[in-house]
Amino acid sequence: MKEKNTMEKIVAFLKDNGFINLSSEPYGGFSSSYDYGVYGVEIKNNLKKAWWNNMTRHHENIVGIDSAILMSPKVWEASGHLSAGFADELVECKNCHKRFKQDELKDNTCPICNGELMSPKKFNVMMKTFVGPVEDSANVVYLRGEACQGIYMNFNWVVNSGRMKIPFGICQIGKAFRNEITPGPFTFRTREFEQMDLQFFVKPEEADKWFEYWKEERMQFYISLGIDPDHLRFHDHPENKLAHYAKKACDIEYLFPWGWAEMEGIHNRTDWDLGNHSKVSGTDLSYIDQETKEKYMPYIIETSGGCDRMLLAFLIESFNEFENGRNGDGGKEYLMKLNYLLSPVQVAVLPLLKNKEELQQKAKEVYDLLKIKFNTKYDVTGTVGKRYRRQDELGTPFCITIDFDTLEDDTVTVRNRDTMKQERIKIQDLINYISKEYEK
Ligand code: ATP
Repeated sequence: MKEKNTMEKIVAFLKDNGFINLSSEPYGGFSSSYDYGVYGVEIKNNLKKAWWNNMTRHHENIVGIDSAILMSPKVWEASGHLSAGFADELVECKNCHKRFKQDELKDNTCPICNGELMSPKKFNVMMKTFVGPVEDSANVVYLRGEACQGIYMNFNWVVNSGRMKIPFGICQIGKAFRNEITPGPFTFRTREFEQMDLQFFVKPEEADKWFEYWKEERMQFYISLGIDPDHLRFHDHPENKLAHYAKKACDIEYLFPWGWAEMEGIHNRTDWDLGNHSKVSGTDLSYIDQETKEKYMPYIIETSGGCDRMLLAFLIESFNEFENGRNGDGGKEYLMKLNYLLSPVQVAVLPLLKNKEELQQKAKEVYDLLKIKFNTKYDVTGTVGKRYRRQDELGTPFCITIDFDTLEDDTVTVRNRDTMKQERIKIQDLINYISKEYEK
């Protein structure tokens, strides 16, 4: 586990290196909103791609959609999100009007001003806005509180157009919004966040089996992308603590610097969602088995993870700081030991010297050769040692140096991020060499 105080260092490091920063910086930042920068967006896209491929390519019976954030408010009425079920119990101070979660209070006085507190009230976390020009209650809509409702709305359409047969899944990556009362730390809990959801539709009698299957699958996803299994655990929810829609729930938790916390939830949502939407909307969302003609409301096994939260876990896991350099004989150095699939830059091309036209020309040729196949960066500024360190900070797996021998024999030096070993490789073999390393 990374020590608690590493979080401050990591947050500063992520800002300095173009990964993540507070939103609206010129105005001093906007609480609980974050922007992904030059390298942050690349890692985030890589994580989404890894998840999407894991779902849709490794499982022939999973397809994806991309549904709208704004939906009919009736969806949220039927889903239970506008009622107390999707609410936090809050206590307001009569004096300063700050609100606190009931369970965060030590006694019956305001922790800020010592004022008297009102009795607790449910506070709904759905974010509201208006559609059209009139701010009228008839025009109220909600920013979706969870991405999965869009999947339920498209259930019939996907079954028909995708010719889906149970068991099958629909996945989606998309933004969700919650008016969280106590956001943080950092991007762990924010009011705007991205979810990566799978809704897997099964026969009711097979729900328990698939619940176990997806628990294991999701755990393996994190391990395969480089998280130490000792930093991961399942947390089963006791039955009396389940959300209104769930029959079984298990979190995958990561050992964050502040302790174990949820990264993803796996739920058996039963037939609650499709059943309830069928009832309220009047549209039948049951499934008909084309072979047996059996008609039933499928059960849903859901895996729902926050993209930002997972990404934070991967960044924390990869962060390494060396007080005396990686070889023990220098100044402070950093290494982002990201899985190759997540690294924001895959290959860096470094001409040995800036002021030698022929080296730059050759390096540009190598860059042009690699740039279509890999996310490649051309870097010419500073000594090669400095440039290696810069790429280590980004987590770039390979640095390719073009030197005077390259001009003679068309070979380059490939430096491996993790071993720091250097190998001489022919330019014509580079794509093959790097591709093979990626397949390992
Ligand atoms: P928590 O208890 O941490 O608020 P939750 O149990 O309400 O989360 P779910 O509704 O199951 O979360 O949402 C699924 C996933 O979405 C969570 O595991 C988490 O990764 C992510 N998530 C939920 N709320 C937020 C948030 N406010 N900010 C970032 N990610 C979130």
